[in-house]
Amino acid sequence: MSDSSQLLYLTDARNHVLAVQIPWDIWRKIEPLARPALDALMEGVSEEPAEPLAAFEEFLRYWDFRYFYSPAVHCPHCGAATQDWREDPAHPFRLSNANLGGLLVFHCRACGATIRQKHFHDHVTVEHTAPRP
Ligand SMILES: [Zn+2]
Repeated sequence: MSDSSQLLYLTDARNHVLAVQIPWDIWRKIEPLARPALDALMEGVSEEPAEPLAAFEEFLRYWDFRYFYSPAVHCPHCGAATQDWREDPAHPFRLSNANLGGLLVFHCRACGATIRQKHFHDHVTVEHTAPRP
């Protein structure tokens, strides 16, 4: 890529790159090379990074607290809530981290807040970080 100024980066309000536009004459040349990789990528993959569901399964497998795990998630920042973040068709929360120490981190899709559920031996605490303006 000797002339990257020909590429147009489309960003969201938080300056995250969403897409790149490639001039037609460049795309024409690289499409035969890129197409197989693109097709493989597009198959069932959304633009968002995958949730760490394997880590979540581990989290559940090692669950030894005195209460049942609750899949309910609530956003203290904007009030979004679900009874079960895994089953909710609107999927209002994305899991971004899970660890065996009892921490689950969710991303609120409505407002962008980060929600941390800390599971202790006999209770859960919820902390959140408001989205950056
Ligand atoms: Zn929210």
